[in-house]
This record gives sequence, structure tokens and C-alpha cells, in this order.
Amino acid sequence: MSAYERARRHAWWMVGALVVAILFVAVVERYFGHSSLAFGVAIVGLIAANRPMLRHNCPRCGKNLFFRGIFVVPWPNRECGRCGLDLTQEQNTDAQD
Ligand SMILES: [Zn+2]
Repeated sequence: MSAYERARRHAWWMVGALVVAILFVAVVERYFGHSSLAFGVAIVGLIAANRPMLRHNCPRCGKNLFFRGIFVVPWPNRECGRCGLDLTQEQNTDAQD
């Protein structure tokens, strides 16, 4: 699997985590009233779910696929922003999975 493909899976995983977090807060608000604790739990959960993002790096130069310069975006680069490597291609240097 290419680096881009793996990063894209993570992006979808985060979409799912975000939906679950929103539903969780909505359900708590519905049945227990407004709760900043539920909101805090949802935020912490999302940060935890997003931790693997830091492992999605360019196999050649190590630049993170989710960073565009200083900005973090929810969708990975197809092409490395630093070295121009096509991340949709299978990389032999990448021994993960
Ligand atoms: Zn690169």
C-alpha cells in the first residue's frame, strides 16, 4: 500500500471519529443537558484518534503528508511538498505493514 493510501485511510478514520464525537456530545446534551465534560471527552478522544497522523511521513524525506508548510490539513498530499515524490506509488523503502 502506498503512503498516500495509508494516510487516506487515516483521514477516513478521522471522519468516522469526528462523527462519533459529535454524536456523543449531541446524545449527552439531549439526555443530560449541556455538558462541557462531554465536550472535553470528545476533544481528548479526537486528539487520541488523530495521534497516528504523525506516522504518515514521506518515505524519502520524512515530511508529514498532512502538513502543507506550517498548516495541517485533514487530507494527505498526493505528492510530497518537500521532495516532490509521488506518494500514490508503492515505495520499496517503506517496510511498514
Ligand atoms: Zn518527501
